[in-house]
Parts: sequence; structure tokens; C-alpha cells
Amino acid sequence: MSKETVWECEVCGDEFDTKKKCLIHEKNHQKKKSNNNKNTVIKYEYLEITLNISGGVPGKKNVELLDEYGQDGWELITVVAPNAPIAFTSVPVTKTLIAYFKRKIN
Ligand SMILES: [Zn+2]
Repeated sequence: MSKETVWECEVCGDEFDTKKKCLIHEKNHQKKKSNNNKNTVIKYEYLEITLNISGGVPGKKNVELLDEYGQDGWELITVVAPNAPIAFTSVPVTKTLIAYFKRKIN
């Protein structure tokens, strides 16, 4: 998928594929605003990490872990607590949480 930048004369609106002056009007070309919906679809990528209920990885709180992903552009969407039954009890015990993130793809 290629997305080329389209330039246009600010007077006549003629399109060019490079940023030069319009030969007729000698005006600078302006970056053409996209009016094509197909080019403006927002795309996402997703990430899944495991958090410990007791608090992230050793020496790091969950919120610090989330901060790091946030700095990389990942937005936390939701946290899921899977029920993990342990032996000799029917009570579901959850020790971990699964966090899902999303980030826009440019
Ligand atoms: Zn022109």
C-alpha cells in the first residue's frame, strides 16, 4: 500500500507529485488535503500482556508497566481476569490479569 504525497498549486489546484512551483502561476505547491475516505481509515494494532495481581514484574508496579507501554503509544483497552482453578478447591483463583492494548497504525 503506497500513500504518495500529492501537491497542488495554491491558485489553480493542479496536482503535482513533487513540491515545485506551478509553472504557470509560480506559486508554491501546497500539500493536498486528502478527501478520499479510503485513505483515512484508521487502523489499529493490538498487544496482549500478562500482569500479576500482586504487582507487575519484580521491582515494578503494574501502573509503572502500563506507563511504559503508554509511552510507546499503547492505550490500555481492557483487563481480563481469567479464572484459573487450583488443585483441591473448586474456588476459582486468579493470580494473573491479561491486559489488552491498542495503538494506531500510521
Ligand atoms: Zn497553478
